[in-house]
Amino acid sequence: MPYLPTIGLETHVQLNTQTKIWCGCKVDSSSEPNTNICPVCMGYPGSLPVLNAEAVRKTVQTGLLLGCKIGLRSKHDRKSYFYPDMPKNYQITQFDEPLCLGGSLEIEVNGKKKVVQINRIHLEEDVGKSTHLRGASGVDYNRAGTPLMEIVTEPDLHSEDEAFAYLTALKRILEYGGVSHCNLERGNIRCDVNVSVAEEGSEVLGTKAEIKNMNTFRGVHRAAAYEIKRQIRALETGTPLIQETRRWEDDQGVTTSMRSKEDAHDYRYFPDPDLAVIRLTEAQVEAWRADLPELPEAKRKRFMSELGLPEYDAGVLVADVEVAHYFETVVAATEGNAKAASNWVMTEVMRVLSESGESASRFKISAAALGKLILMVEKKTINNSKAKEVFSVMLEEGGEPETIVKEKGWVQVSDSSALEGFVTQVIAENPSVVDDYRGGKGAALQFLMGQVMKLSRGKANPKMVLELLKEMLA
Ligand SMILES: [Zn+2]
Repeated sequence: MPYLPTIGLETHVQLNTQTKIWCGCKVDSSSEPNTNICPVCMGYPGSLPVLNAEAVRKTVQTGLLLGCKIGLRSKHDRKSYFYPDMPKNYQITQFDEPLCLGGSLEIEVNGKKKVVQINRIHLEEDVGKSTHLRGASGVDYNRAGTPLMEIVTEPDLHSEDEAFAYLTALKRILEYGGVSHCNLERGNIRCDVNVSVAEEGSEVLGTKAEIKNMNTFRGVHRAAAYEIKRQIRALETGTPLIQETRRWEDDQGVTTSMRSKEDAHDYRYFPDPDLAVIRLTEAQVEAWRADLPELPEAKRKRFMSELGLPEYDAGVLVADVEVAHYFETVVAATEGNAKAASNWVMTEVMRVLSESGESASRFKISAAALGKLILMVEKKTINNSKAKEVFSVMLEEGGEPETIVKEKGWVQVSDSSALEGFVTQVIAENPSVVDDYRGGKGAALQFLMGQVMKLSRGKANPKMVLELLKEMLA
């Protein structure tokens, strides 16, 4: 009997605000444990939370990027939660009045496009991080109170590939939106995966299992694939499935049962009496909408229409938001010479980035300096091969292209009398090659050209050399 798997994702995204959601403590995952804490994020009795407005803005802007309806009235609720990583014994989240409702995200799987419906986005607090050592456990509360968005899809995905494609597309939107650092290794994006399997054509979904706290997309893909197979096997053999929470064991490649799943009433949600209802105005939401960054698809189209880039270049450049930003700054510094900027970024810059694994925002050569270098080629101050050498020097030692060119004496020789001298000398020294050329051997010209470049120590203007050679050999 054919079965249809259904997957829903709850994705937790840490916002990249400077400070935590209820207090002024720094959000910084690289600090020593328990150094960015205060009575509020430690949940001391009597401490009072104050909502971070930046966290609201970033959540609403994410909602706008995903086409959500923004709740002009929303509120925070307490969710009962007993675990050492949350000393208040409740987590402040949003229950029935989240900031964003509805929305969707387009994904592409095996060349087929599909729109995934989003149910809601709410804003809550992250909890502390527990570490289990041999014989003891430790809790780091630095993470507690980090603003966390939970983006919940409808049960709208039907394969592990679709889940993977959704997460990849979502991450790109979050990166472009500038709302999260999106560093998976640091746990900026964590995912709960709800999987169920029903007979094809069934009106109701099967019994779902929730796989908790996945922090790689690859892991989600593997865990969902495993869980789908496990549930189909159970249905085929008549083994009853129970609603439960499961854990992914990455080394063994299996999910194991953690506990039977709570229902909403187990959490005893109620409005947090310490926090005011959030009221947004239409004008505020519209101002945030006007301030939204450009998304990859719009940027790609603009690179083609405004900058005249080929479709291929535009696609390569927008694939990574930091590369796209870098490229735009280069273009601005080259007096709008977009194609030359695109060639340099796509070849030299991206080659170095892929070798070093660095991000474009930390690239050693500033976009402005690369722009200047490109301009020097465009203005024929240096030729292209010398420009590549300048690029290497900038990469190794830093510095401005003009200074490097001056110091190394690499200014291109475009003075025709100087070039004529080189060409005359090369023709005189290579009579047999000259005869070959006159006898119809085209390759001989390349040899002569090479000799002139060598004589000029790479500084001759190659276009002028070629013209002069042809002229003087004619
Ligand atoms: Zn604090």
